[in-house]
Amino acid sequence: MCLHDHTPEAPSAAAVPRRGILAGAAALAGISVASLAAQLGGAPAAEAADAATSSSRGDRPASPSPLMIEGGTIVDPKTGHAVEDGVLVLEGGRVTAVGSRTETRRAVAALAGRARTVDASGRWVLPGLIDVHVHANALSDAAAILQGGATSVRSGSTSFYQDVALAALPEWAAGASPRMSPAGLFISPELGESLLADPDLGPLAALHGGVNEPADLAYLARVNLKRGAKVIKTRANPRAGLAEQDPRELVYNYGQLSAVVKAAGKAGVLCHAYSAEGIDGAVRAGVRSIEHGVFVTEQTIARMASRGTYFTPTLDAITGMSGSSDPILAARGREYTPIIKEAVRAAHEAGVTVVAGTDSFGSEVTPIGTEVRLLAEAGLSPLDALRAATVNAAALLGWGADAGRLVRGSYADAVVVNADPLSNPSALEQISAVVAQGVLVRNNL
Ligand SMILES: [Zn+2]
Repeated sequence: MCLHDHTPEAPSAAAVPRRGILAGAAALAGISVASLAAQLGGAPAAEAADAATSSSRGDRPASPSPLMIEGGTIVDPKTGHAVEDGVLVLEGGRVTAVGSRTETRRAVAALAGRARTVDASGRWVLPGLIDVHVHANALSDAAAILQGGATSVRSGSTSFYQDVALAALPEWAAGASPRMSPAGLFISPELGESLLADPDLGPLAALHGGVNEPADLAYLARVNLKRGAKVIKTRANPRAGLAEQDPRELVYNYGQLSAVVKAAGKAGVLCHAYSAEGIDGAVRAGVRSIEHGVFVTEQTIARMASRGTYFTPTLDAITGMSGSSDPILAARGREYTPIIKEAVRAAHEAGVTVVAGTDSFGSEVTPIGTEVRLLAEAGLSPLDALRAATVNAAALLGWGADAGRLVRGSYADAVVVNADPLSNPSALEQISAVVAQGVLVRNNL
């Protein structure tokens, strides 16, 4: 059975408006506007709750007070240049000055002592890191991601649009969530309880065997986009992390994935893929990035390089299976680890852009610095591994002008680390401060 009858049109104007959907997602994500405001020391709780329920959104909250990070070595991941004893000034949610003491003297004078100052002497200052594959379902998950140093993320899908709700937070509550490119619901045959996320999904509940027809796949992608997804997540293969599934079987073939890619349009698609056939079908269908990609062939790597398909190997998730208490998963981890490392090395050498994604789920967050170290261990130079979590990841998200570097006008997102990231592959695991949207959300200095 298929939904050809109603799929040609866009989803009907829903009985539940977008605001209602988002309120539901926010509730599931554990976000209460009132408690959030109290937690962040913002507007009085009652006032915030009033504003949330009134039809007008009210005035934007004041941006955080200026912040100055001085004395550290400021590293530009794009050029690999480092400025010793540098100064970084953040104000109004943006970088307003960055460079040597001389270069920033005027901007510092203009602050006239208004800025909170952090001394980063003996440390390295970097742009906020980017994790291109996370599953954040709650406010606490978002906080854990920030603590790990990722100030921007791409969602790899959630069950109830929680990522769409989290993505709306930075505009209202600086520092409450990383900047997020939300994927909404996973485009997968079995929607399970996610069918309850959205009244527009009712028709898909009637399908026997799940969502498989190209028209139904396109419909599900369009519902996601209508609810605020900025990227579409789908799959070519089953999951590796579930012992009862075989990630070398095929879930969606080239034709099905092509329907998803077409419906996603400019939003682009990230595709979970393991088998050689699955990865190649996804690449030919035009997905923007391959997630996991263990059994990618040399031929597909060449295709990825020529098409500009990004590669998110999620090394921590795959190698981490080796430590599983489940013998099937542990064996899978041991088998896959050398294969995925070799795939990363070969892809990087062939000119494929490798990006850093942890596949962190919920509050079990792997710090993005761990994935960067694993990329270096797989053969990337420390600078290229750093780029995988900064400039290259920003380009994948379409945020290249704002994130991934510290230049005048870029986002007020930064991390301070205790070792030189240009020579030490585990430097990004040694975080001493994190600034997200101008707010110092972690400070061990
Ligand atoms: Zn994932």
